Amino acid sequence: MKIRLLPSSFEKDGSASARQHLTCFLIDDVVAIDAGSLAMAITDDERPLIQDIVLTHAHLDHVAGLPLFIDDQFSSLEHPIRIHATNEVIDVLERDIFNWSVYPRFSELKNSHGAVVDYRPFEQGTEFSVAHLNIRSIAVNHRVPCSGFVVSDGLSTVAITGDTAGMDTFWESLGNSPRLDALLIECAFPNELEELARTSHHLTPRQMGRELKKSKQHDCPIFAINIKPAYRKEVVKQIGELGIDRLEVLEVGRTYEW
Ligand SMILES: [Zn+2]
Repeated sequence: MKIRLLPSSFEKDGSASARQHLTCFLIDDVVAIDAGSLAMAITDDERPLIQDIVLTHAHLDHVAGLPLFIDDQFSSLEHPIRIHATNEVIDVLERDIFNWSVYPRFSELKNSHGAVVDYRPFEQGTEFSVAHLNIRSIAVNHRVPCSGFVVSDGLSTVAITGDTAGMDTFWESLGNSPRLDALLIECAFPNELEELARTSHHLTPRQMGRELKKSKQHDCPIFAINIKPAYRKEVVKQIGELGIDRLEVLEVGRTYEW
């Protein structure tokens, strides 16, 4: 399974920045997990290959690219883009984004081939198929309803926490999973901002260290994701200070293969 965290901002020379403002993982070039930079960070060749988008939750950094991604292809789509999300998340998209005030309600529009959006609701704690992947959703502990995912292509399995504070269900559920090839875990704020992390339901390196002790996936490579760009330097340093061999920061723009 190939996974790439798409870039979302750029350096002075135009190269992709390591800072992660937005979240969008592209899996095997065809499935997007979240859509933060989906419209902005893909090429014209890549765009039509992506027909399935799976959302953890509806916070802006995870959906900012979604309206633009649909808009870019509005006339050319021969099949609707499938948006896999919980009903809570779909309700937020329809009420707060695709509401004609912020952006057009694409679910009411058709092109010459028909509908352009196909909502595919899933329930927390269930498994569902997306393209060639099997995905299990697990409720995590964020300020709003948010899903973590265990993604498998039949050969490899990768777990992604989504945005979260401390969790129990996620770790218990992973404990019942077959071997994991990689775990992607959020780590938004530095230790000094533990109070803010608590209020906004995110993790700091110290809290992430505690969380990882709950994990039974001892031999699996672990990658920190969702580091707030403003605190990246401190968070990366504090992650290093945890002294966990298999833990590193997921590089933006790099294709990982498991
Ligand atoms: Zn969030």
